[in-house]
Amino acid sequence: MARYKDAVCRLCRREGMKLFLKGAKCFTDKCPIEKRNFAPGQHGKDRKAKIVGYGLQLREKQKTKRMYFAQEGQFRNYFERAARAKGVTGEILLQQLERRLDNVVYRLGFAVARRQARQLVRHGHVVVNGKKVNIPSFQVHAGDEVAVREKSNKLVILESAKEFASHQPPPAWLEVDRDGYKGRILALPKREDINLPVNEQLIVELYSK
Ligand code: SF4
Repeated sequence: MARYKDAVCRLCRREGMKLFLKGAKCFTDKCPIEKRNFAPGQHGKDRKAKIVGYGLQLREKQKTKRMYFAQEGQFRNYFERAARAKGVTGEILLQQLERRLDNVVYRLGFAVARRQARQLVRHGHVVVNGKKVNIPSFQVHAGDEVAVREKSNKLVILESAKEFASHQPPPAWLEVDRDGYKGRILALPKREDINLPVNEQLIVELYSK
């Protein structure tokens, strides 16, 4: 599937909720969900039917995939790996999404949104255990150290991200040194550490058909 290149706010409007894809704007009244909370497009306002069954499962998958900027094939691979692993499939699926390097950079507060974190990784500003990694979907492990490269520390977006993140503590599974732009994975995230409005069971049902 090609990467989505249209205005990301349309994705929130399609899902009918804030997916927090744009950082600070998401918390202001400039957020389109505040003013136009209906699906985009000519007939967006008319789509009022209650979604049930398959439609509900599909929307839950789309919403989750969009929050993490994962591609369709990648997302299915996460599910298949989760289904093969020991444990609760839905929880392992979410755990893999959380373990993506771009998500970890975002959770550590080095970017205001996952999309910005993705760019930081892609442009080679991030190191894992001292080695440059430019793959946003790279899976981190417990004990890994994730840092912004020293020569990238002066990037303006890092300063604004630090200010943005100063109001929110990092999740319990991460340790962060915000001034040093580095952090450590203390443990893999459990379901209770993942604060997301997602019903992962619906996604499991969708893929298990
Ligand atoms: Fe979604 Fe943020 Fe755009 Fe609001 S501002 S629609 S939350 S991406």
